[in-house]
Amino acid sequence: MHITKTDYLEYTYCKKNLWLKKYKPELFQGVELSEFEKKIIEEGNLADEAARHLFPNGQLIEIVGTNAVPVTSTILGTKPPALFQGAFLSDVFFVQADVLRFDAIRNGWELYEVKATTDVKRVVPYHHVNDLAFQKTVIEQSGINIVSTGVIHLNSHYQPHGTLNYNELFVIVDLTDEVRDAEGDVQAQMRDIKAYLGMPEEKGCECLYRGRNAQCTTFHYSNPNVPDYSVHDINRIGGSKKIFFDWIDRGIYRLNDIDNPEVLTGSKKAQYDAYIAGKPIINYSAIQSALDGLIFPLQFFDYEGYSSAIPRFDGFGAYEQVPFQYSLHTLHKDGRLEHKEFLITNPEGDLTLPLVERMRADFDERGSVISWYKSYESQRNTKLAEVHPDYAVFFEALNDRMFDLMTIFSENSYVDAAFKGSASIKNVLPVIIPALSYKALAIRKGDQAIERWEKMIDPTTSQEEKDEIAKDLLAYCTLDTFAMVEIYRFLKTLL
Ligand code: SF4
Repeated sequence: MHITKTDYLEYTYCKKNLWLKKYKPELFQGVELSEFEKKIIEEGNLADEAARHLFPNGQLIEIVGTNAVPVTSTILGTKPPALFQGAFLSDVFFVQADVLRFDAIRNGWELYEVKATTDVKRVVPYHHVNDLAFQKTVIEQSGINIVSTGVIHLNSHYQPHGTLNYNELFVIVDLTDEVRDAEGDVQAQMRDIKAYLGMPEEKGCECLYRGRNAQCTTFHYSNPNVPDYSVHDINRIGGSKKIFFDWIDRGIYRLNDIDNPEVLTGSKKAQYDAYIAGKPIINYSAIQSALDGLIFPLQFFDYEGYSSAIPRFDGFGAYEQVPFQYSLHTLHKDGRLEHKEFLITNPEGDLTLPLVERMRADFDERGSVISWYKSYESQRNTKLAEVHPDYAVFFEALNDRMFDLMTIFSENSYVDAAFKGSASIKNVLPVIIPALSYKALAIRKGDQAIERWEKMIDPTTSQEEKDEIAKDLLAYCTLDTFAMVEIYRFLKTLL
């Protein structure tokens, strides 16, 4: 069995997870990567390819895996100016290095790792220094002299106009000293991984002491005694270590078994109380006061945004959200509900100008603008104001009139234990309005909408498929704002 760099990084996050992947891969079958995870991998590959423009006349090893090792060795002997995806195997450890550049003066190779990030990360599992130390160790043990190490990452300040300038798109950070300092610890970890993967399966796993969000899909396999709704589901319980560890040490997993609920405060207490009561806990006066502050017509608004590691649109840099769609439901005082929407289908010219012009026409100058997690919408408004200064006053006015409907739930004015401590509309809606569901839609999540829009604007996609995707995108965004209307109406029935 070979241990790759990905295995090493996996180990730094959770060695039990790595062990299960190697010996019980069936546990991961059927667990598809999310669209978001797939996109991260794809963005990494695109950044890697783009960074090769920084090294003219470099040679690419096209073979993936250990078969590339002898080919690498042959090509290195010819001392090309740069080598991409060179492969090295030492003992059980295997790496393919993004970039090696030959330094004739020092008679050795500069090792670069390309990252589709906008800075150097020094936290597991994305610890760029340790990542390089792992690679350097394997390559040097293969007899190659590494004279320096660095990361090539995206430049967050670069906002292209016209053709991409790769020298401006990337930043090269020399990490030679940090990598040298980290090597000893990383090599100790490498010995530990090898020993750990040679051992029988450990019982349980460390996530027994972590909140639900930190756990992977194998948690129930390793911890079969923990019920589906457990203390792990209490809002941000992983941050309250003293309380949480005490319960786990005493075998308290069910909320009904908590014998010291007085230690809970804030949203944790509210969730516990709602669970024990078996019904929602409602702060009527807080809801009344929030909704009384709204001014008609109520304009329920939502953007969908696209982002990519390698900038694709003028004025938008790496990972900057490009609003490509909106839905707007306007509820009038007399109960009339109107719907307006817009989707960029032809990304040419001044990409977001048609969207901005339509927004200007669709919004009423009066009334509250209601979003869910409003900071997302208000940040997009601010960016659109920057890109289209003629509309800055319009966007500033929108931001001034924004109300975040999510706060009713995130500030515990309405708490249902079935939300499992989350105020996401995807968790709240099915509990409050079970008849309204994303399940029947072709697009059910924001990351899926991004992937679909990218497919829709791809010139190679057939018109028939483009039309189908456009229909699905409009249905998805419509539900986002209609869900807010229905949640608002539901809250009004309580008062
Ligand atoms: S549930 Fe947590 S500790 Fe257990 S294998 Fe998954 S990530 Fe590792």
